[in-house]
Amino acid sequence: MKEQELYLCAMQILDGQLVAGAVKEELTIRVAQLVAEGRKVPHLAAILVGNNGASETYIGSKVKTCQDIGFKSTLIRLPEDISEFKLLNSIHDLNRDPDVDGILVQLPLPKSISDENVINAIDPFKDVDGFHPSNAGRMLQGLPTFLPATPHGIMLLLEHYKIDTRGLHAVVIGRSNIVGRPMSILLSNNSNPGNCTVTICHSHTKNLDEICRSADIIVAALGRAEFVTGDMVKEGAIVIDVGITRVPDSTKKRGYVIRGDVQFSTVATKCSFITPVPGGVGPMTIAALMKNTYKACIDKN
Ligand code: NAD
Repeated sequence: MKEQELYLCAMQILDGQLVAGAVKEELTIRVAQLVAEGRKVPHLAAILVGNNGASETYIGSKVKTCQDIGFKSTLIRLPEDISEFKLLNSIHDLNRDPDVDGILVQLPLPKSISDENVINAIDPFKDVDGFHPSNAGRMLQGLPTFLPATPHGIMLLLEHYKIDTRGLHAVVIGRSNIVGRPMSILLSNNSNPGNCTVTICHSHTKNLDEICRSADIIVAALGRAEFVTGDMVKEGAIVIDVGITRVPDSTKKRGYVIRGDVQFSTVATKCSFITPVPGGVGPMTIAALMKNTYKACIDKN
């Protein structure tokens, strides 16, 4: 057996599809219990502005998952040219609606609309994406809150595979408010998984390759297809690929392929665990969103 094949044997896929399936199964049972007790079932309201293809896909998966597990869902489609004022009014209506437990506004929004104003308008008790500053602040302080779905999903995945992250050096590439920054907080928390020594990298980071080579865990969340290559990864590292990029491919019927931020072919041969794209972080993000929506409903009713 060649050396590379040996590494392949040692490497384990972190199967987000499988773990998300288990989370959904558990939620389905809990919803059935709520129904049997004559209690309210969780209700997620999602707002989609415009018709960006990727956003349509993500929101479609979220609505379908709600249906699969027995949650109520409402999808509000608004035109691309909607004013910020009208969008904020839609959010205020959902905030006031006692039947709605969770609200999400699919990002990105058109440039004319401020993400910040929109996120701030969502009732923090219905902010199941965990983006509202009060929820982000609670997360920082380790208080109970809605954790942002993608980092939360990654933590659930690490937990499921019983990966002991104590004392490991985690390198997070990307510092967005929705992925990189909260990921760095959760990994540094006094928790399990957690207790990592975290380095957060961004577009101005110098010697990124070298920093990555010193990582026991790499979380790649920068949105550049196949950016992390095998030569940037230490043998035995744990690699979490958050990226989702549509790369044009004329041989495909739909005209593109989905790529992560990690070059799977060169990295998988070196690491101990890796999340595939698709089927890794994506399904876990939706599972975490569903957990948050369930929590929003139970906390209130
Ligand atoms: P973003 O554009 O808001 O942030 C990207 C970050 O990467 C920035 O902080 C930037 O400084 C950093 N960056 C960019 N180029 C870099 C470079 N060359 N070196 C180092 N850092 C660099 O993106 P985001 O919203 O955080 O999303 C990141 C990726 O994750 C995207 O591909 C997005 O589609 C994907 N995503 C996936 C899921 C999922 O469920 N799998 C969820 C959210 C986002």
